[in-house]
Amino acid sequence: MERKTHKVLGYDVDLMTFKDALLFVEKKLKNNEGMHVVTINPEIIEHANKDNSFSPILRNADLVIPDGIGIKIALKLKGIQQEQIPGIEFAKETIAICEKLTKSIALIGAKEEVIQKAKSELLNEYKNLNICYSHNGYFSQDEEKNIISDLQNASPAVVLVALGAPKQDLFIQACKEKMPNTIFIGVGGSFDVWAGVVERAPECYRKIGCEWLYRTIKQPQRLKRIYKTLPLFLFKAIIEATKK
Ligand code: UDP
Repeated sequence: MERKTHKVLGYDVDLMTFKDALLFVEKKLKNNEGMHVVTINPEIIEHANKDNSFSPILRNADLVIPDGIGIKIALKLKGIQQEQIPGIEFAKETIAICEKLTKSIALIGAKEEVIQKAKSELLNEYKNLNICYSHNGYFSQDEEKNIISDLQNASPAVVLVALGAPKQDLFIQACKEKMPNTIFIGVGGSFDVWAGVVERAPECYRKIGCEWLYRTIKQPQRLKRIYKTLPLFLFKAIIEATKK
């Protein structure tokens, strides 16, 4: 399947429906081909612009899913209609495909109690799912080497990495060469939601693309992150669109 992408502030974003993005992953799974999936939002782009180690990783990603409403708006300003693909839902559907194809998965990230709870919730929902490896997201550089080596031995088809960006993408980068047949997806705070520690925004917020607003109300500490990135991102996106 050919990738059709469009640049948002210098970074390729895939223009795909949710369904086609899933088909893309399913095909890779069936062919035992690895890849790095990024669920992109304005925060990630702003971060990449300031971080020279992160920006090439983002440019080299194999599938960049428009997760944040800001990305959808930036594309719309250029006359491109693209549906928002929530990373958390995309990850869930990928898990369902893994169960169907009897492909194993691994989970990396979040606090120990969170990952344990998320794991048991997933196994409850997907009875035939094989979670062949899991590790919490609080480890040192030295421990990281052991985790990557354990991951290699476990040989999962898909690794869901929930360390937040850019940490999760740097971790994926460190694994990628060693595990060329594995699909890595950065999933941010998804394990917290699956474990029931953090509530997902109600449907009415999601429908109008305001999940970020709900999360900020529930976790006011997020305000600093959003305030620092979203207005600047939107300003730059408007400038970029008017240049065309
Ligand atoms: N996290 C982690 N290790 C770290 C820092 C963060 O495992 O060193 C986890 C954290 O516990 C949370 C997730 O990474 O589960 C990040 O969640 P956040 O809501 O910030 O991500 P977002 O969805 O906004 O990308």
